[in-house]
Amino acid sequence: MKIRFEERKDLKEKPTGNLGFGKYQTDYMFVMDYEEGQGWHDARIVPYGPIEFDPASMVLHYAQETFEGMKAYKAKDGRILLFRPEMNARRFINSNKRLSMPIIEEDDFVQAVEEIVRVEKDWIPTGEGESLYIRPYMFATEKAIGVHPSHSYKFIIICSPVGAYYPEGVNPVKIYVEDEFVRATVGGTGFTKCGGNYAGSLAAQVKAEALGYTQVLWLDGVERKYVEEVGSMNVMFEINDTIITAPTEGTVLPGVTRDSILHILRDWGYKVEERHLAIDDLMKAGHDGTLQEAWGTGTAAVISPIGELYYKGDVVQINDFRTGALTQKIYDTLTGIQWGDLEDTYGWTHEVK
Ligand SMILES: *Cc1c(COP(=O)(O)O)cnc(C)c1O
Repeated sequence: MKIRFEERKDLKEKPTGNLGFGKYQTDYMFVMDYEEGQGWHDARIVPYGPIEFDPASMVLHYAQETFEGMKAYKAKDGRILLFRPEMNARRFINSNKRLSMPIIEEDDFVQAVEEIVRVEKDWIPTGEGESLYIRPYMFATEKAIGVHPSHSYKFIIICSPVGAYYPEGVNPVKIYVEDEFVRATVGGTGFTKCGGNYAGSLAAQVKAEALGYTQVLWLDGVERKYVEEVGSMNVMFEINDTIITAPTEGTVLPGVTRDSILHILRDWGYKVEERHLAIDDLMKAGHDGTLQEAWGTGTAAVISPIGELYYKGDVVQINDFRTGALTQKIYDTLTGIQWGDLEDTYGWTHEVK
């Protein structure tokens, strides 16, 4: 894929201090257009800035939008590393197919990510836990009000230097188990990364925050009985020395972090079960002391220990609201690989040269 480059004269000042998450954007963005009959064309890296599109653009009415989230890390020896970018490329293909949107070939996706990261390498922050967050996304641009798959799309990649995802850092979070709204059902779009999934989930998030909880734990969409995932993270529980996480059967997002952690845990000899776990059994385990640790997993936060669960007025604390030893060990191992501090025996890191 040929990518043209449009230089800007005035580079932005790089932020210092607490970067937050997604507050700052870099100097450039990758953009590519799709037109039915013509396919993807005009791949370019251009100055970051507002884009113009028609008020009738279909994404604004029917929400054909998909996205990805990944990071670039700067190792102490100066290498620039991506983490399993081909997994994001394949997931993006699956999301786009489900939303009746055109796909981007795996190689082109990875090339576009590499190219924008190469251009923005000076934006990769090097403080503890800091990285360059990469947000590829696609949306429908056809001017039309009738409901049908759009005939034109834009694919954009923006980058954002980020610190730790949670203001609290690697400290336990309080999770609200949602018993009214649902995020996904079998046959729906739960396994895709699409904006629509999030739009529908915000009401629960607002409810949770009003009660002093950070995120929502979703139950299955049919019986509201089985644990699925947390907000923007997959979720794992250690009960009686066994790690339990929901299977990815269409309603749960197949996380890259989830997959990586399951590999690591199995290598360490842990018993791992990808199965449905009833919320009643989880709360019971919380009360009788067999629930040892719980954590969420995702690119943004990497791992997020869960210190408290609230379900229909019932509250359990996990590991006395402290980060568990296993949670910490997984965090240290995975971030060690991602930031290039530990040897990568899995072949997961992908150097941008
Ligand atoms: C992105 C996302 C995750 C985590 O996936 P990673 O690939 O590990 O970042 C989990 N759940 C939802 C709903 C997500 O959107």
